Parts: sequence; structure tokens; C-alpha cells
Amino acid sequence: MEKNKLQIYSSLTGKKELFSPINKNFVGLYVCGPTVYSNVHLGNCRTFISFDLVYRYLLHLGFKVRYVRNITDVGHLVDDADEGEDKIAKKARLEQIEPMEIVQKYTVDFHNVMALFNSLPPSIEPTATAHILEQIELIKQIIENGFAYEVNGSVYFDVLKYNESFPYGQLSGRKIEDLISGTRDLDGQEEKRNSLDFALWKNASAEHLMKWPSPWGIGFPGWHLECSAMSTKYLGELFDIHGGGMDLKFPHHECEIAQGCASTGKSPVNYWMHTNMLTLNGKKMSKSTGNTLLPLELISGENDLLEKGFDPMVVRFFMMQAHYRSTLDFTTEALIASEKGFQKLMEAISKLPNLNASNESSFDVKKLVESFYEAMNDDFSAPSLVANLFEAIRYINLISDDKETISKQDLTLLSKEINAFVFDILGLKKIQEQGNGKLSKVMDLVLEIRQEARETKNWSMSDLIRDKLNEVGIVVKDGKDGADWTSGL
Ligand code: AMP
Ligand code: ZN
Repeated sequence: MEKNKLQIYSSLTGKKELFSPINKNFVGLYVCGPTVYSNVHLGNCRTFISFDLVYRYLLHLGFKVRYVRNITDVGHLVDDADEGEDKIAKKARLEQIEPMEIVQKYTVDFHNVMALFNSLPPSIEPTATAHILEQIELIKQIIENGFAYEVNGSVYFDVLKYNESFPYGQLSGRKIEDLISGTRDLDGQEEKRNSLDFALWKNASAEHLMKWPSPWGIGFPGWHLECSAMSTKYLGELFDIHGGGMDLKFPHHECEIAQGCASTGKSPVNYWMHTNMLTLNGKKMSKSTGNTLLPLELISGENDLLEKGFDPMVVRFFMMQAHYRSTLDFTTEALIASEKGFQKLMEAISKLPNLNASNESSFDVKKLVESFYEAMNDDFSAPSLVANLFEAIRYINLISDDKETISKQDLTLLSKEINAFVFDILGLKKIQEQGNGKLSKVMDLVLEIRQEARETKNWSMSDLIRDKLNEVGIVVKDGKDGADWTSGL
């Protein structure tokens, strides 16, 4: 029943729309994944955790979901206007290692961080380099349909030609005339008929590290193409939900729509969802400006911005207190407030099994439970859900103090739904649940050895232990009372 009431805000129409899946077999959800050339920062995590919430709620509603989140391991250039080096190749050159070593290192980091935040893995996690053939086929189709042209071994999408048949700029609300007058003529872009055109395939120079043969010569795919190729392959030419951060609306997602229309004649996605930015000091958290905080720094407390470390579940709870379409500013004060709220929530939940049931309830339990669904059905409003859960906590505490009553049946319902919304949907877990008995014992030993190293000022050993633990997803937190640890295992 609740399945039929979900409203999703569509970035394309600017309205909340009743969610109606395309087919009965599965809901197709595609989320642009990270470009794996450095550690994911907390801003990236906000976007991925927001879509984890979407995925979890769809599952809770009983939908079968095919969740595809890609790994960008080639083609994302330093400059979004198709210029500059490939981000991964540049890092590989600087570190003098193979590009695939960079890809491996940061994919592992990404997975560890996602596990720490208790994010569910996607159903399929395809990589761009494993889908070169599909990308080449897609380019061939776009050329055949007359919307792309080849110059010196590179292929460009012809935006002006496309705009004669399909409106370009719909998603980002940009008009083509404004875009044309606003673009710079960049050096080295003289191959393009128009500066708005974007690369589908780029010719590779001899020293270029990641390249493949194609009908147009040796080269590599353009960044926007991979998501079109992989979403089509796994979800079909038309699928339900496509997500990413707001900064991907233009040019990335605008170009995906253009590629979809140019190859199949129809727009590829029913609901475009975009998350707003996590900010730090009021500015977007971003790799390129260095205004970032890494998840491991936040957990360990090792950053000058922080007074102490925070458990990943507190960080996740902090993120759930803003709607995904609102900006969220990171401050230590906000994290401390979230820590208190999280503890209050967990304390109340632990009281549930011990509450005494009465003959009847003194308040409307069904309405309270209904309010959880109403919040999430309103475009996945986690902050409204949290507010409604706190209303439930108020009642739990009053029942515990014998100031309100609850019937046995209502208590069963309330316990079941609170557990579902807090653990399955918000994706929180009790802090003490992390790790298991054996792991705790091993960790006690490892931390003791590390403490000895620190006492003898053997900093390299102490750092080595910390870094090796990080590699397997265990974060060490140094505090006033010694070291503690947390893990996504
Ligand atoms: P990237 O690896 O840079 O392509 O980014 C991965 C995802 O994180 C994309 O969906 C971005 O839109 C998103 N993202 C980047 N910075 C932020 C931020 N400060 N807040 C929220 N999401 C972000
Ligand atoms: Zn993408």
C-alpha cells in the first residue's frame, strides 16, 4: 500500500511526482560512482549515503531494485571541457605506478569507507574500462544517427545539430544561446565544430597511458559516455532513477540525456535525483580546492578542524538530519549534537523490549507509525523521519515512566517499525555491535603493541599499524584515555 504513495522530486520537471516504476520485475537505480584517483571525501560520502537511503527505502517498500553504481576508472579529464590529462593517468604518472594500481588502491578505500558507514553494496558495480566495447557501439550508433562527427581520430557530439531535434539544457535549465555565448574558446579545442560539443572518443597520443583500439584509431572514451553505456546495458534504454551530486547535472547528466536521445530517440531516465552539497566553512567540500575532510580523519579525530573523533554511525546520523536536496554544513558542534541525539535514540530503542504493555494505548500508535512512512514517502525526507522518531522516543520514555500506556499489539507494531526505520532504512547500527568477540580480542592485542611502540617513540611502527588497519577497514581513534577502534567489518 505504502508503495503507491512514494513521491520523488524530479530534477527534470522541478516537481515531486508519484513514483511509478517502469516494469514489475525491478526498479532500475543508477548512481554515478567515484572517480577513483584519490580518497573519497566526506562530501562524496554524503551523496553515496543519500542514495543508500533511497535504495534501502525502496527495498523496504518491497520493490526489487537493481542498483548500479559505477566506478570511473578512465576518461574523466582534469578539465571538464575535454582538456587536460586523465585524472587517474596523471596520478599514476606522478606516483610512477600503473594507472590500475591507482584504481585498485582508491576502489579499496571507497569500499572500506562505504562499509564503515554501513552502506549496502550496489547490485552491480561496473567499471568504465570493462565497458569499452559497449561505449564504442554507442558512439557508432550516435554517428549513424547523425549526431556526432569524427576529426583526427576523435569523435565529438554535435550539440547544435542535436538541439534541432531535442532540447539541450533541459535538466540544468540552461538555454543553448546562453551556453554558446558563455563558453570560452579553449586552446586545443579547434577540432570541435562548436565549443559546446563534447568528446565521445579522444584520440590518444603515443605517451597516453590508458588507450584502446577503435574504428577511429587508438584512443579512450569521453567521461559522459560510460554512464550511458553501462546504464543501458544493465538497466535498459529507459530506466527509473538516475542519481548523483548536483554538480553532475551539468555537463555530465545533461550529456547523458543527449547521448540517450541521440542513440535511441528517447530520454533515458524517468526520475533524475540530485543531492545537494556538503559544505565545510560554508564552501563546497571538494577535492580540487582542498577544502575537504576525509572520513578516516573524522573518525580518528586527526584533523586540526576537529576536537575529537566521531563514530561513523554518528556521522551517518548527522547526514540524515538534513534533506538530501538541502546543503549541509559540517561543524564539530553539529556533530556533537548528533552524537547526543544518536545516543538518545539508541537508549530509547534498548528500552523497547522491557516496556510493560497495558490493556490499551493512551496515544495513537498507528498514526505515529504512519508518520514514519509519510516522511519517507515525501521524497525520502530523512529529517522529518528523524523528527517523528524522536516523537516516538518521547512516548517510549513516558511509557517507561508509567505516564503513557501502550497495548501489547501496539507495542509489537511500534517495536517492529522503529527497528525497521532506524536500522534497515536509516542504516544505523548500535555502536557496540561493531566487530565481534574474536576481533575485539585481536584488536586489544594490536592496540597494546601499538601503545608500546608509541611509548618507545617508535612512531613509524605506530603509524604502520594504523595504516595497515585502515587498509582493512579498521580505524584507530586516539583519545585522552588511550586508543579505541571502529570498523565496518
Ligand atoms: P567524483 O568522484 O568527484 O565524481 O564525485 C563523486 C560524487 O560525489 C558525485 O556524485 C559528486 O556530485 C559528489 N560530490 C562531490 N562533492 C560533493 C559534496 N561536497 N557534497 C556532496 N556530494 C559531493
Ligand atoms: Zn555518471
